[in-house]
Amino acid sequence: MADKKFNPESLMMSYGYKPELSVGSIKCPIYQTSTFTFPNAEFGKRLFSVAYGLEEAVENEPTGLIYSRLNNPDLQILEERLTLWDNAEEAAVFDSGMAAITTVLLEFLQPGDTLLCSTPTYGGTDHFINHILKKFKIDALFFQAGASEEEIRQIIEDSGKKDSLRLIYIETPANPTNALIDIEMCSKLANEFGGDETCFLAVDNTYMGPIWSNPIDHGADLVLYSATKYIGGHSDLIAGACLGNAEVIRRVKGMRTFLGNMADAWTGWLLMRSLETLKVRMEAQARGAEIVANYLAKHPKIERVYYLGFIDPSHSDYAIYQRQYSSAGAMLSFDIKGGEKEAFTFLNNLKLIKLAVSLGGTESLAQHPFSMTHADVDPETKNRNSVTEKLIRISIGIENGDDLVTDIAQALEKV
Ligand SMILES: *Cc1c(COP(=O)(O)O)cnc(C)c1O
Repeated sequence: MADKKFNPESLMMSYGYKPELSVGSIKCPIYQTSTFTFPNAEFGKRLFSVAYGLEEAVENEPTGLIYSRLNNPDLQILEERLTLWDNAEEAAVFDSGMAAITTVLLEFLQPGDTLLCSTPTYGGTDHFINHILKKFKIDALFFQAGASEEEIRQIIEDSGKKDSLRLIYIETPANPTNALIDIEMCSKLANEFGGDETCFLAVDNTYMGPIWSNPIDHGADLVLYSATKYIGGHSDLIAGACLGNAEVIRRVKGMRTFLGNMADAWTGWLLMRSLETLKVRMEAQARGAEIVANYLAKHPKIERVYYLGFIDPSHSDYAIYQRQYSSAGAMLSFDIKGGEKEAFTFLNNLKLIKLAVSLGGTESLAQHPFSMTHADVDPETKNRNSVTEKLIRISIGIENGDDLVTDIAQALEKV
């Protein structure tokens, strides 16, 4: 732990890895193995006792590996590296963002409990809460991103369920329009409600983390990622992560062991490779986004641009933006003048920017939220969140910003 004084980007190539345990290999090998041999039966017995919580681990006790559903060097080293970015004690990696999210929901909620959730949330999360948690008699309350503390407090009070509130789940900035939620305010509400039991705060930080936002510093208990997005960053894998203190991650890993939804060694290895370039990638993406946002803002065929760099200092989101984020990020949306026809003409004429959902990768991707990522959302909610037929979302990659502008300019000419 002594080398924690270095910045995370300096440690991503070495932290947690001992070359002498892998014949001096400079890089961590892929431990493509399902199981691990024990030096003797006594050692195996002790490992199981600690893994299943029957006995406590003692300080400096030699640790060992059991079976790749429980632990694997590629996952353990990756998890240690992830904690450095988010000031977390521990991390758990999963085979998708949805696996990380659903494991947390299942571990921290039981029948009769109430969940408070921000809207809009990622479609998969929204579906799990509305359709699957319902089957387990877990109720959900919702508030709109942008709601005031008073309005949220009222929703909790009016529900008559304030003492059964066990989890507040938020996604900020909200997809696709970058509406913001105050994490500190939600942490305060979590501390206040829930009766005699703890109410936890979970934050989906996929859009801005871990480089530009660290929710634990603002009171979050659990930070969630679709590592498919910026952390993976090359549009070539599906993975997820959850971070928090040792106690919450012990619980999350306990549930993960029995759901069996951990990432595998190969995905872990790919993610370690991705982490080495995470900061330079995200910084390049943010620079490109700024160039594109400034261009779009002045274009006569564009009505409005949703970009964090454009929040008006007089807007209530501005203070949240300043406190929670160290960059305007690399996700932007805009309203094109017209409707579906104009939006589709634009999308169909892009050359460098690809037409696809997902985000955070090295290549820029554009999509039409109304008919694609948010097709399943009811029309009233879409309207309330400015998800209309004229909205286009772009995830900016690492291409030259001027080339992105050239591509957007020629596609807009066809509209
Ligand atoms: C993509 C995404 C998810 C789901 O992650 P998967 O890796 O696709 O399972 C969850 N939350 C947000 C904000 C996302 O963008």
